[in-house]
Amino acid sequence: MKKGLLIVFSGPSGVGKGTVRKQLFKNESLNLAYSISMTTRLPRKGEVDKQDYFFVTKEEFEEALKKDELLEHAQFIGNYYGTPKFYVEKLREEGKNVFLEIEVEGAKQVLDYYKDDPGVLSMFLVPPSLRDLENRIRGRRSEEESVIRQRLNKAKREMDLKKNYQFIILNDNVNRASEEISRIIELKLVAYHKEQELKK
Ligand code: 5GP
Repeated sequence: MKKGLLIVFSGPSGVGKGTVRKQLFKNESLNLAYSISMTTRLPRKGEVDKQDYFFVTKEEFEEALKKDELLEHAQFIGNYYGTPKFYVEKLREEGKNVFLEIEVEGAKQVLDYYKDDPGVLSMFLVPPSLRDLENRIRGRRSEEESVIRQRLNKAKREMDLKKNYQFIILNDNVNRASEEISRIIELKLVAYHKEQELKK
């Protein structure tokens, strides 16, 4: 069994990471497995527990931290977010390409931790413009003005960290961006498996 990739996917709040991810997951040949995060944020309308996130209390999150159950974690506008360790490596060993959709602080922890792992692929999704990003965040209409402002400020700071990633993808169009990402995953996988073969 060939080991799968660890794909770290970031981008500012509102850039459309979720939409691009859903498009990517339609392509079964990519063999992706979504890493479901744990968060203390309340569910948005339509979000499902254990599917979109493990929605937990602050106490439950802190307990998971204490037990060292998280691969990385970060605070984002007053809430905790983190990646449960339990199945990231297990799924990779099973040949799945594990997909982490996480913000920049947590991504940095993962990229540092896995810095010598040739199976890590990092990508950062950017909007066509900051104006476009603001329109999208406002278009969601699920949050109050103060939270929208915080998300916008955070988005600007997050954009500065795109240099930490191997690939920067422009989300000018969901289908085009997803196609580009699919091609990058396929090429990376060929290179990674070849490298594993050579090591044997
Ligand atoms: P949202 O509240 O919009 O669902 O997520 C806010 C930000 O947290 C997004 O950038 C999202 O990608 C990120 N995020 C989601 N899960 C995790 C996680 O497990 N760890 C980290 N560090 N960030 C996460």
